[in-house]
Parts: sequence; structure tokens; C-alpha cells
Amino acid sequence: MGNVLLLNATYEPLTILPVRRALSLLLRGRVDAVSDDYISLAGAADSLRIPTIIRLQRYVNVPRRGVAWSRRSVLRRDGYRCIYCGIRSGEMHKGQVLVRSDFTIDHIIPRSRDGKNTWGNTAAACHSCNQRKGNRTPHEAGMPLLWEPKTPRVDYLVAAGEMPTSWKLYLEV
Ligand SMILES: [Zn+2]
Repeated sequence: MGNVLLLNATYEPLTILPVRRALSLLLRGRVDAVSDDYISLAGAADSLRIPTIIRLQRYVNVPRRGVAWSRRSVLRRDGYRCIYCGIRSGEMHKGQVLVRSDFTIDHIIPRSRDGKNTWGNTAAACHSCNQRKGNRTPHEAGMPLLWEPKTPRVDYLVAAGEMPTSWKLYLEV
């Protein structure tokens, strides 16, 4: 894993940087180390160890970048957990262990009724719940949402699959 999580001065996650950009910020004295985990640069001396989390010394006001919606990103955002019954990938359902491919995207307002592919209108759901709900709204189906689907705060989803544990605290995943 050759990436570094950059936090704002307020500890809010900003982005994920390639190690060499993180190194440049460190050398320019713009950032502090936050984590005790380090990445060693190949071929570099021990002193060139880059912390996996760094924080800007000065607060920067960054306009929110939109995170692109995709089915896969929705599944990742929801951690392969069904928004209706709460079952997760890896848990048992009717004698079988669910795997990631057992999870689908549910349109909260169904597509047949103009429900859009947006962060707020889509969530991970297991096959049974998705089928049971069909072309109904959660209200009509009597299937309340366990949480409110939201737009992710940072553009981290690309890395979500192999994130160091130390990042999770800051990324709220
Ligand atoms: Zn379910």
C-alpha cells in the first residue's frame, strides 16, 4: 500500500496522496505525522519513512468534491450490509454464508417510479429484501430503512478495499 491519508488541520480527511507527494509535504514542513504506522520508501534511508496519516498544519478550506456514484461504491459505502434487515456479507442466511455478490443495489424510490441513481436513493440490500420490496417504497412495503443513505464525505472509496486499520478511525467506515 503506497498511499497516505491527508487530514486537514481539524483532522477531517481530505484526500489520499501518493507517498511521494506526502514526502514532499513533509519535507516542506507543511504537515505533521499523525499515525505511528510508516511506509518505507524503497531504496531510501530509514529517515525516509512516511507516516500513513499526515495532517496539514494550517487549515485549508476545501470545496467538497463530489464522489462519483456507482453500484460498487454504494455497496462499499454500506459495507455489504442490507439496509432493510441489517444482514452483512459473511453472515448466515437460511443456512448459507452470504458473500459480497449476494448483495444488490436497491432503489429506495424504485426506478420504475423515477427513482434515480443517486447516493441518497440507493443502498445495499440482500436478495430477499430486494425481492420482497419489489417496486414499492419502503413505506408501502413496511420495510423501514435502518439508516439514512448519504453521500460519502471524502473521495476515499477507491482505496476502501485495502485500507490500513489506522485510517478507519478518520474515515468513519
Ligand atoms: Zn435484507
